[in-house]
This record gives sequence, C-alpha cells and structure tokens, in this order.
Amino acid sequence: MQTKRSTRHLTLETVEDYVDKLLPERQVCSVEKHIEDCADCKELIQRARRYTILLSRWAPEAYAEASRATEEQKRLRVMAALESLEQSEPTIAKRLRVWREQWLGRGEAAVQIAVKASGEITRILTGGVKGLIKPQARWTFSYSPRAPKLASNMGIALDFLGSPASTDTAGEERLSVEDVSGARISIDELNDAIHVTLDAKAAGALVMLVPESEEDQSLVQKIKYEAVSGTYFTSFDKVPPGKYTLVVEPLQ
Ligand SMILES: [Zn+2]
Repeated sequence: MQTKRSTRHLTLETVEDYVDKLLPERQVCSVEKHIEDCADCKELIQRARRYTILLSRWAPEAYAEASRATEEQKRLRVMAALESLEQSEPTIAKRLRVWREQWLGRGEAAVQIAVKASGEITRILTGGVKGLIKPQARWTFSYSPRAPKLASNMGIALDFLGSPASTDTAGEERLSVEDVSGARISIDELNDAIHVTLDAKAAGALVMLVPESEEDQSLVQKIKYEAVSGTYFTSFDKVPPGKYTLVVEPLQ
C-alpha cells in the first residue's frame, strides 16, 4: 500500500532530540512514521545513536538548509538575550549593545550544550554554531581524538558526544571540548556546572549562556584570572537541565 509521505526530511535538531528522547509524544509519532518509509532518515537516526553521523551519505542540501535555518534561529535568540541583559545588567549594558549592534550576536567562540537531568548523558556540541561565530574567531572548539568527529562537505563539523565510559561513571565524568590553544569548555556533571577556561586574551571577556527557551533567563559571567590555577576562568553553577548556546564576547 502506497501511503502519502512528507517529502521533507527530518531536521538535524529533530534527529538529535529524538535520539535524546527530548521530543514531545506527538512529534515522536511523526518521526517514527517518517522513518517507516525513509531509509535515509532511518539511517541518520541509527548513526546518531552511535554518536556518529556521516553527513555525506545523507542528503547534503537538506542538511545544509536545515542547519542554516537552525543557526539563524539560534543567532536571533542570542540577539534577544543580549537585548534583555542590557536592561538587567546596567554595568555592562554598553558592551552588550556593541555585541548586539556591531557583531549581530556573533561571538569569539560558540558551542551548544545540552544539560540532562542527573545521571543522564550531557553533551557539548561544536557543530551547528558556525553562524554564531564571528569571522577570524580566536577559539574553535573540537573534541579530543577519542571522540568521533566527521566533517561534511560543507565544512560543518558535527559531533556527538556521549562515550560509553561516561555512562558507567555518570555524575563523575567531566565532558569537555578543547581548542588547540588549550582553551576548554567542560561540564561537571556532578554539580551541573559549566566551566569555561580561555587564555590571557580573554581577561575580562563576557561569556553568555543562552537557554533555547525564550522563557528562561540568559546568564552572563566575566572571565577572571585565577591566581591559584593560573587560568582565565569562569563558571555557571547549578545549570538547570535544558539546551543552551554558550557564546563568548567578541574581542576588540
Ligand atoms: Zn527522510
């Protein structure tokens, strides 16, 4: 029996959320219906489940389109966050305005972070944020070699993190991404804390944590020198479960 099916493939966000069991029931049904007769999307989900995606074997145009739209949404969300923080943080309002007006919400570095309920796998995604990073950005984060990293032919790197090792030591494992310079973003799952360690160039730079939902408040912190460890560091503590975009203020 031939059933009418949507010609639209699943977006990358939908695949991620489906695999992470973050989708509402109604959407779960439509995903499952779609993959009943779409071998491409079914395969994508299987790959996502193994924390690896080979984008070149999936429809690259569809991926690029979905990815651009998603990045644009994220950038607009960052713009809105900057605007709202300008009101609530008068001492840094001028800098936030420059970030918004001059850089249109793009930062010196950006990653996506999914914080799960305690005991579940938390992730840091370095893909899907190209549209949020300014030209000649100073920090580009990627995974250590043990994590799979595959680049599409559009030059967009997509990473899935959640190694088997992190499941049996849940709550103790520190997940992290690193830049070649040694700059590092990590999640302390035990304390639901996000740690950001940059370098001397970042002294005083603002770091913004923007929740995906507009109803949740964005947070901003300043990179400070910590004499004890000799690092330029800040952290967000007790971060509630959810999806976030972390963006570093553009440097002058
Ligand atoms: Zn499909």
